Amino acid sequence: MSGSNSTTDFGEHSARIELARCLDVCLDCRQCVEMCGVFPATIELVEERPGSDAGLLTPLDQDQIISLCSHCDLCRDGCPHRPGIGTAAVDLPAAVEALRFSLQRSGRVGWRAGFVGRVLASDRTLRLTRWLRRPVNWLLRGRDGGVGRRALSLIFGLTRARPLPVLADESFAHWFSRRRASGDATQHSVVIVPTCLVDQFAPEVGRESVRALEGGGAACALAGVTCCGGGLLESGQIDRFLRLAERNSQVLSESDGPIVVLQPSCLEVLRSDYPRLLGSSADGLAARVRGVVEHLDVTVPDAGARASSLLPVAIGLIGSPRGRATGEDERLAARLERRGVRVVHIETGSLGEGPGALTEARDAAESFVAPSDVPDDLPLFGSSVIINRMFQERLGRPVEPAQALLAVLATDEANG
Ligand code: SF4
Ligand code: SF4
Repeated sequence: MSGSNSTTDFGEHSARIELARCLDVCLDCRQCVEMCGVFPATIELVEERPGSDAGLLTPLDQDQIISLCSHCDLCRDGCPHRPGIGTAAVDLPAAVEALRFSLQRSGRVGWRAGFVGRVLASDRTLRLTRWLRRPVNWLLRGRDGGVGRRALSLIFGLTRARPLPVLADESFAHWFSRRRASGDATQHSVVIVPTCLVDQFAPEVGRESVRALEGGGAACALAGVTCCGGGLLESGQIDRFLRLAERNSQVLSESDGPIVVLQPSCLEVLRSDYPRLLGSSADGLAARVRGVVEHLDVTVPDAGARASSLLPVAIGLIGSPRGRATGEDERLAARLERRGVRVVHIETGSLGEGPGALTEARDAAESFVAPSDVPDDLPLFGSSVIINRMFQERLGRPVEPAQALLAVLATDEANG
């Protein structure tokens, strides 16, 4: 863990003490009070008891509070009390992670939360559901109030408030294996970690990313790793996360050169959470992973770029909370602005990107920053598969993958 403690050292008792300690500092500080449902719920529960002391919260209270955390990391950024900055060494996402871990380990999570964690966060489940794609998609696509959605809500606690993502007809990996590589001259090689979201739900993001990378002169190969394990981490299954992370590190160490990760939140898991939880053995891997824009910035710097008629005049760019730390959105915005595109940055709030984001527990807890000041005719783009869908559903407007802009940029740059 970052900070003063190691998640894997926590038993339930010490995890609860650590969570209460962090929440007590938060209750004094209150900087993050509007960030997500965790802070208002904590304040409300504490105020029901004398003394405004988070140490008086019951285990049930704490379990309710952690069920609201989307592991978005927003409260880590800029916290004046975080480890290495303040003496209190508050790392709330890590404290939530630790308590979830101890509950998972002792089998004391509710069966619905357990199912979401154990089954939906598993890359094995995703691979198996491909064989059952038609009936699974029938359930996922079911209309609100229909039998299928009621069953998913009742059995698994999945949201009925919005449509669920459906499995693509063809996975990215399958498309990649049957495609003919670009005939453009290649100058260097990259290996790609597609991520399960792109591979199974949004292969178009992968196709656009490959087009951008090949446009920049890269010969692309698949890395042999699909899932980063972020869903396991979010649900507190740190033992399973560590096993997957060790296996992934081993597979990725068999290649050399840059590793391009197609979803920013998963890039952040490989770059930050692997070294945080695996230790310095993952430092070499963390130094090799990149986002698509980061890779293009290294290999095809666009200094002296001119305005392009192939790009929109202005766009709204939707970020993702976990992906923000990777700097991918800022890099893309800078590249677009150098090409004369006006970029309006759109905040996301604490929207999560793992399986927990699809549960009813999160429906009211995650903050969503509605871009009320963004004109209706401004085309919206974003790099996160899940957050793009959430914006699309909640605003009733199309949101395109930001990777499509990159592919246009790369083609334009290749044509001089
Ligand atoms: S996470 Fe840090 S900044 Fe946010 S309320 Fe707690 S102590 Fe304050
Ligand atoms: S949802 Fe995000 S902002 Fe809220 S406590 Fe969890 S990590 Fe922090």
